[in-house]
Amino acid sequence: MRAARLHGPRDLRVDDVPAPSAGPGEVLLRPLFTGLCGSDLHMWHGGTGMSAGPLTLGHEFSAEVVEVGPDVDDPRVAAGQLRPGALVSVEPMWTCGHCGPCRAGSYNLCRNMVWHGLSDRAGALAELTVVRPGMVHVLPEGLDAVQGALIEPLAVAHHAVGRCGDIAGGSALVLGAGPVGLAAALDLVARGVERLVVTEPSKVRRDAVSTVLAAVGAGTASVVDPTETDPAELARELTKGEGVDCVVDAAGVEPAFQSGLSALRPGGTIVTVATYLKPVSLHPLLTMLSEIDVRASLGYRGDFPPVVDLMAAGAFPIDGWVRQVPLADVAEAFELLDAGADIKLLVDAGA
Ligand SMILES: [Zn+2]
Ligand SMILES: [Zn+2]
Repeated sequence: MRAARLHGPRDLRVDDVPAPSAGPGEVLLRPLFTGLCGSDLHMWHGGTGMSAGPLTLGHEFSAEVVEVGPDVDDPRVAAGQLRPGALVSVEPMWTCGHCGPCRAGSYNLCRNMVWHGLSDRAGALAELTVVRPGMVHVLPEGLDAVQGALIEPLAVAHHAVGRCGDIAGGSALVLGAGPVGLAAALDLVARGVERLVVTEPSKVRRDAVSTVLAAVGAGTASVVDPTETDPAELARELTKGEGVDCVVDAAGVEPAFQSGLSALRPGGTIVTVATYLKPVSLHPLLTMLSEIDVRASLGYRGDFPPVVDLMAAGAFPIDGWVRQVPLADVAEAFELLDAGADIKLLVDAGA
């Protein structure tokens, strides 16, 4: 079968590899659409984790169940839900189940985590892939494979917004409108945020987030270029000088982080969900005097089911920010992603 494997830095090739099969306690899937993200790009640049040989990438995906292997202990099999032909979205985490965080239910913090198609395990940029049944979420009628491939990045945003606490009727600032920032803005709207500011230097991304916000009836949200408008000043203006309740940092650069801190009301929360490549400066006196909560958000836990429900309810329109490319062109797709020309690229494994 065909599989897009990373051989080293910037060296992704569509190889012919042996097809996997479902072992005991496993499910064999045919990936349909697979999203590419900043984490894939990070791998692609660094070629890290390649000691075990070329790695098939792909962790954000929808798939069709091909085969449920032997000894799968899952009530959805008997109920006829987890069966060949079922359309699914995959939570791409191989967790150990026995470390401290796993025992406490915080499986996204598993100390022995393997990210499917990212840190190990042949991923979804292939014609077949193997996962555990617990990673599989069967999609309801009405959702399609393109929507299914977006559940993962939406879940990242949903988890981050959840770290804001109850935001209904409140105010928020989202820093950065890449896929996660755009998703966070939609998620905040779905949770009933009343005043919303989104900052993004790229015009293409500002236009995209404005379009989806208008589509969900949040056209009055402010979408601004942080190099022209001071986000903190605007946030205070919109909140009678108070500052916003929560900042979701999906930008990952120092100026954004600093403007986020100064946009907060006393007692507010900033959630970092961006992957920072450099440290930032933080004066603890500043956060202490206003009792600012600086929180982080990693992946998701328990976020797939609510995101699937929100998607089915129309909270996440996909027009204007998602583009499809065939698996045969995946190497070129990484170049495009690196150039920042697209917001979300989905690889069609069947093309
Ligand atoms: Zn990702
Ligand atoms: Zn664990």
